[in-house]
Amino acid sequence: MSTATSVRPEAPLPAAAQPLLEVKDLVVRYGRGRKAAAAPAAVDGVSFSIAPGETVGLVGESGSGKSTIGKAILGLQRVSGGSITYKGKDITSAGASQRRALGGELRAVFQDPNSSLNPRNSVGSSLAEPLRLRGVSAAEARQRAEDMLERVGLPREAVDRYPSQFSGGQRQRISVARALICDPNLVVCDEAVSALDLSTQAQVLNLLADLRDERGLGYLFIAHDIAVVQFLAQRVVVLYRGQVMESGPAAAVTENPKHPFTRALVAASPVPRPAEQAARRQARESLGVRTGAAAVPRPGGCPFRLRCPLATDRCAAERPALRTVGGSDVACHYAS
Ligand code: SF4
Repeated sequence: MSTATSVRPEAPLPAAAQPLLEVKDLVVRYGRGRKAAAAPAAVDGVSFSIAPGETVGLVGESGSGKSTIGKAILGLQRVSGGSITYKGKDITSAGASQRRALGGELRAVFQDPNSSLNPRNSVGSSLAEPLRLRGVSAAEARQRAEDMLERVGLPREAVDRYPSQFSGGQRQRISVARALICDPNLVVCDEAVSALDLSTQAQVLNLLADLRDERGLGYLFIAHDIAVVQFLAQRVVVLYRGQVMESGPAAAVTENPKHPFTRALVAASPVPRPAEQAARRQARESLGVRTGAAAVPRPGGCPFRLRCPLATDRCAAERPALRTVGGSDVACHYAS
């Protein structure tokens, strides 16, 4: 029987509870037609959601499928299966006009700031461009560009300078300004601080956190370094060969990892203190996890089995399903 507080299954979630983004059973195969069907999936059944104001960290080694997921969300990669829903609307195969209608709501910051900043254009015109495309007058666009530069910690006069006149960290601040100038709801940050030195990384991460809290932004924060993800994310999804190995609250995943691969990622994460780094190196070696150069496993079973020190025959025969262990979802037969 229905009560005043019950929610019918078909009723939309209350605005605050509706995820900004929902990725469900996402599959991406490269290529088209029969070639794609025969290829191993680059992303294989990945699901997660992002609430307004929330940061979800997507972490994994190179080739784990994390950037492919970011591209699929941004409409830059064809999806083979599953769905991507933005504010309740299916955008899995959104065409150019549907993407245009989303306007500046979905934006991105990439590792290389030069990918979003034309070196021949002044910083002001790079920042104004997305606004001008949406019909904002030149005078207002310039004003907003100056305001945004100030907000990311650069002088207003930077509007008349060129990207080459700034350091790598400053250029990344300009990229952040360009991504946020249209007031997006969701920003995909793909290795956004990976090319920066540790102290500049910390500054840009603090800036991203402040902007998120100020504007209620959702972030999908993609990185190979779990410590960087841990700084910003409330939830973490760990990927290996396109599959989710572990996901859950950031503290649970990073401080008490349950999956052998997550443990190896945590132990491999660089820290600025040499003594702690040595302890981590020792911990990593004692895990017995083989390096990433291991052979590609046949389809089926656990994708991590060729590197896992705990692998058994069962791991080759049966793909482990995600199950809840100590507050996280873990895809390992033996996690406890
Ligand atoms: S399922 Fe087996 S191979 Fe995979 S992580 Fe667990 S123990 Fe290792």
